[in-house]
Formats: sequence, structure tokens, C-alpha cells
Amino acid sequence: MSKKKNCPHGHYCKICGEYKANEKFPGKGHVAHICKVCSRLSAAEKAAAMDINRLMNLPMRRLSDSEKKWLESKTHDKRPAVADTAREVYNVCFPYAERNAMKKQLIINILSFEVHTEVYDGYGDMEMADRRFTIDRKSRVLTMTDFHTDIGEQSMCMMKTGTRY
Ligand SMILES: [Zn+2]
Repeated sequence: MSKKKNCPHGHYCKICGEYKANEKFPGKGHVAHICKVCSRLSAAEKAAAMDINRLMNLPMRRLSDSEKKWLESKTHDKRPAVADTAREVYNVCFPYAERNAMKKQLIINILSFEVHTEVYDGYGDMEMADRRFTIDRKSRVLTMTDFHTDIGEQSMCMMKTGTRY
């Protein structure tokens, strides 16, 4: 199928994306580039058909950022036909996207957070708590670093809760 704009055998319908003979276009359809079949569609149907047509014709090369964004947005489209097509096209264009998203969740092995606040002990005395907690999932070690005392780092092994067998 030729994609040339000046195809001598007819006109390109921007809705269904097909080249059709002149007589397949209504009078003003030549200008609007909408064939007779598509001109009968409602505005919503036309919009959906155009989206699907564009999805099917996405270039099989590395997509630009805007093309990728557009494709991603269509995978959440309210019209099921558009969303289904978009998801299929997306899976073809990005076969590893799903797996990579899963991997991203799996590589959170070290969680670290710091506490910087004023705390009151049992006698009403204020002291500063400046501590960092680091949890290493692989070695199952919880490390607490107290920036205020000379104890420095304290480590303990976590209990094996949450282990999946
Ligand atoms: Zn058409």
C-alpha cells in the first residue's frame, strides 16, 4: 500500500486511513479527506477511528517522546476499542516495558530514612534525635546511626518476617 499523498488512484481518508477511489468520497469529502463510509460515523466514532488508525500506523522505529506520551495516554482511553489497540501497539513497541516495571519494584533492596526531631525523654528533658535507619533487604540488617552519640552505627538482624517461600 502506497502512502504517497498525491496517489493518483484516489484519496486518502484520514478516518479509516485507506486510499479510495474518487467516487468513494462525497462532494466535499475530497477536501475533508473523509470517505463516504466514514462520513456517516458520528463525531465520536470518527475520533475513535482516527485514533485507532493513527495507532495502527505508528512508525516501527524508536518513538519520539511525544509519540510515546500520546500512545501511553491512549492505553488509558475511555473507549475500549482505542485502549485495546493502544495496549497491543504499546506491547509491540515496548516488549520489555512491563518486565522492566516489575524489575524496578524488585530492586528496592535498601531502604533508608532519617529522623531529625526533638524528643522529650521520660523526665521532660528535651533532646535531639538525629538518626538514620537503613534497612538492607538482602542481608536483613537494620542499621541505626545516631548522629548525636558516640555509639555510631548499631546493627541488628531483622526477624524473618515477610519472607516469601
Ligand atoms: Zn474512510
